[in-house]
Amino acid sequence: MKTEGLTARLNSAGLLRTQGLIGGKWTDAYDGKTIQVLNPATGEVVADVPCMGGKETNDAISSAHDAFYSWSNLTCTERSKHLRTWYNLLISHKEELGQLITLEQGKPLKEAIGEVNYGASFIEFFAEEAKRVYGDIIPATLGDRRLLVLKQPVGVVGAITPWNFPLAMITRKVGPALACGCTVVIKPSELTPLTALAAAELALQAGIPPGVLNVVMGNAPDIGNALLASSQVRKITFTGSTAVGKKLMEGAAGTVKRVSLELGGNAPCIIFDDADLDVAVKGSLAAKFRNSGQTCVCANRLIVQEGIYDKFAEAFSKAVQNLQVGDGFSEGVVQGPLINESAVQKVESFVQDAISKGAKVLLGGKRHSLGMTFYEPTVIGDVKSEMILSREEVFGPVAPLMRFKTEEEAISIANNTNAGLAAYIFTNNIQRSWRVTEALEYGLVGVNEGLISTEVAPFGGVKQSGIGREGSKYGMDEYLELKYVCLGDMNRK
Ligand code: NAP
Repeated sequence: MKTEGLTARLNSAGLLRTQGLIGGKWTDAYDGKTIQVLNPATGEVVADVPCMGGKETNDAISSAHDAFYSWSNLTCTERSKHLRTWYNLLISHKEELGQLITLEQGKPLKEAIGEVNYGASFIEFFAEEAKRVYGDIIPATLGDRRLLVLKQPVGVVGAITPWNFPLAMITRKVGPALACGCTVVIKPSELTPLTALAAAELALQAGIPPGVLNVVMGNAPDIGNALLASSQVRKITFTGSTAVGKKLMEGAAGTVKRVSLELGGNAPCIIFDDADLDVAVKGSLAAKFRNSGQTCVCANRLIVQEGIYDKFAEAFSKAVQNLQVGDGFSEGVVQGPLINESAVQKVESFVQDAISKGAKVLLGGKRHSLGMTFYEPTVIGDVKSEMILSREEVFGPVAPLMRFKTEEEAISIANNTNAGLAAYIFTNNIQRSWRVTEALEYGLVGVNEGLISTEVAPFGGVKQSGIGREGSKYGMDEYLELKYVCLGDMNRK
């Protein structure tokens, strides 16, 4: 389907919003500057959106600050109802939102609609959790005292999100923030702002009051600096690269803001000799090639025991060969384009480095004949720890295979990184599955399973993969302050 025809349909459905949202008003950049949003599969311009900066961000912060008092003073039931209505609207527009995701991000339409379901699930889950923000009563150490703990919203939240999940990375933050009574200023990636804007339009339709949810996009450092400098912003929540996360953490120190960081990974996927081969192939394929390898939990190193290495390499390569590459709107496609040219160049340089150091291309290893930013699904054998492929996130459809002998060696290879987000193991030995899970320095572990993300479980990394957790009941804590209250003189009659 042509980009133009699709955008016309989305426009008539009211879901092609091309302005920022400040205090409930759709707003252009104050100097009129715009940036183009491109379809990565075709290079066509999907839309122009405002290139905003510090001034617009400061106004968005003021709006969020003004809205905080009334939003946080609604009852939990009222906030829950608003979120539930938003969830219903997201689900009833999942086809259009999926189309927007495919248009600006490139993932296959079926996968994009899957992201809408996943993204919306955070709004549903936190609509329910809004009613469960329990405090505590602590046994007093003095007879005339009563000790209580209240949980209260942090305040205005700045939420900065990446392009690889244009909806879900936003809802995973905004769902709990709004449920707790916080208000937000969202900064989506300039590469994929349209899904965020459509979701914001549906939030307005859901009756979420003006100013509770604001969206600015454009000059990332200017917007980031305004959020960091403002003493009205009490929390920064960020998903993206470790490099930018470190800058934000440093910047947040100036006003001592709370910080949650969901950063890059370098996920090991360990396949033991005793694994079920079919389960291991299916699971590692899903863990590696989802979103064309552009997720933070994508298996970045397939660490395979020597007894199963050859059989696995053959079966896995066969499965990878069957992955159909193309425009995400074409029937049967499961691998879309990479997000842009620099992403392809990064993949090429990692593969080149591995080949120059002795790795073997078992499948693919080059740009796809479709051109643009399409890259062939690739399997590289005999990858070693000195190669960049095993040390940094490739963020593309390249599966590096590494060989190991013993369980201890596998754990040591897996933990030999600054990252600590997701890890996967495939084994039929239950004792080993526990032992290795406990030894892995990671925030998430999939055992005999490659797709593990869900709204009901805590998502987040250790080491330099981040701070804090998103999703699940633990995700609420990121947006709540504890207030200890001591009631004295309680024995007076
Ligand atoms: P990125 O370059 O760090 O960008 C993420 C967001 O930060 C974008 O909105 C970007 O804006 C913004 N940004 C960039 N520089 C900034 C600055 N100086 N101040 C404030 N904001 C700034 O990361 P990405 O390339 O979009 O995403 C890929 C990375 O995200 C990978 O490392 C991946 O592992 C990680 N990721 C982690 C998780 C997780 O849950 N742990 C989930 C998904 C992705 P612009 O795009 O407009 O420049």
